[in-house]
Amino acid sequence: MAPYHRTKTPYVVRPGSAVRPGTAVLTRGFDPRLSVGSARPAVFRSSTYVFSSPEAAERAFAIALGRSRPAEGENVDLIYSRLSHPNAEILEDQIVPLEPGAQAAAVFNSGMAAISTLFFTLCPPGSAFIYSTPIYGGTQHLIHQMLEPLGMKAIGVGAGDTAGMRAAIATTPNLRLVFLETPSNPTLVMCDIASAAQAAQARADHPLVAVDNTFLGPCFQHPLGHRADLVLYSATKYLAGNSDMLGGVILGRDPDLITSLRGTRAILGNILQPDECWMLDSRLPTVELRMSRQSKNAQRIAEALANHPKIARMIYPTLFEDPEQIRIRDLQCRFPGAIFSFEVHGGKRVAFDFLRRLRIARNAVSLGGVETLACHPATTTHSEMSPDELSRTNVSDALIRISVGVEDWRDLLSDFKTALDAI
Ligand SMILES: *Cc1c(COP(=O)(O)O)cnc(C)c1O
Repeated sequence: MAPYHRTKTPYVVRPGSAVRPGTAVLTRGFDPRLSVGSARPAVFRSSTYVFSSPEAAERAFAIALGRSRPAEGENVDLIYSRLSHPNAEILEDQIVPLEPGAQAAAVFNSGMAAISTLFFTLCPPGSAFIYSTPIYGGTQHLIHQMLEPLGMKAIGVGAGDTAGMRAAIATTPNLRLVFLETPSNPTLVMCDIASAAQAAQARADHPLVAVDNTFLGPCFQHPLGHRADLVLYSATKYLAGNSDMLGGVILGRDPDLITSLRGTRAILGNILQPDECWMLDSRLPTVELRMSRQSKNAQRIAEALANHPKIARMIYPTLFEDPEQIRIRDLQCRFPGAIFSFEVHGGKRVAFDFLRRLRIARNAVSLGGVETLACHPATTTHSEMSPDELSRTNVSDALIRISVGVEDWRDLLSDFKTALDAI
């Protein structure tokens, strides 16, 4: 069988000349000459693949089930699309250069599919993991409603508590995974990735460190460069960037670890489908353009609104005042990103009034799209947190979260100002 789409090397580049990520994303993973000259990859919707011979089928199964490893340059037949398919292979190849330090990627049909596959692969019943708080609502639900009842021990440590995180990592028995979300959602508190990774690597049993990099990656924060083992994305957000699909990605330095995540994915059946893979790989070349514009927009707006009389507290990385948070920001973030949150004076009623008065920004959950979205975390994305957790993590009734899009920032600023002035 012809290797229809497959090429592990860029097709336009002279041998031996490495290219930068923005070029690699457009030249890896797909060779038009192998697909009748098609400039964009075809979509391979087939659920099953015809083997080139019974021996090739036997070989493909031996590799898929981990009994054998592919030889250098070996072309292994595809089997069945729950295991993998050409569009997943193309996407996984193209996304790797966007994450400095990554050697391999696995794609999933949502961010939560990626996160749950990670926990089910690495944390057997009876093992322990540490996670930063506050954390994405879906991850919080997974931990408390599914993982803990299955017998995994979950230890939450407040984001930004660098010493507390190191102590928990050093002293937790049978620790398999440290799961960080930084900046945290929706309060943008940052965790020191390098410090957690160093504490994990100081243990003889080397628990893995995984970072949910949805808010600042892949452009503004590179966890593998700070010695994390794995990086996760809700590709639904900035990677896809148009609020029109769900997806998830895990990238890592160790290809064997990614292979074992793909093994769990094959059983859970949560691989990203061919059409969505095709959509997502067309969005990758513009992620840096979109995120740069969105981050610049957000910075202008957050800084302009910070002293508005109706705003009690503005949360945005360039406005941090805590010296520890400033240290972490300067250590690991290239740009502040496109999310800001703020508290209005007057609580939930006033916050709802603000949302109702917006004319450009839309009242919706999610983030990272080209359009600006605003939400009230305490009653929506974070409504599963207990009153105690909400107050400990400063997710108050007065808090609004904004995901800034690519609109003209002056129009957005006047939309927010008009709504604030009227409440
Ligand atoms: C949205 C989000 C997720 C979940 O991703 P889905 O694609 O909705 O499943 C996980 N983590 C963070 C930080 C998110 O913003």
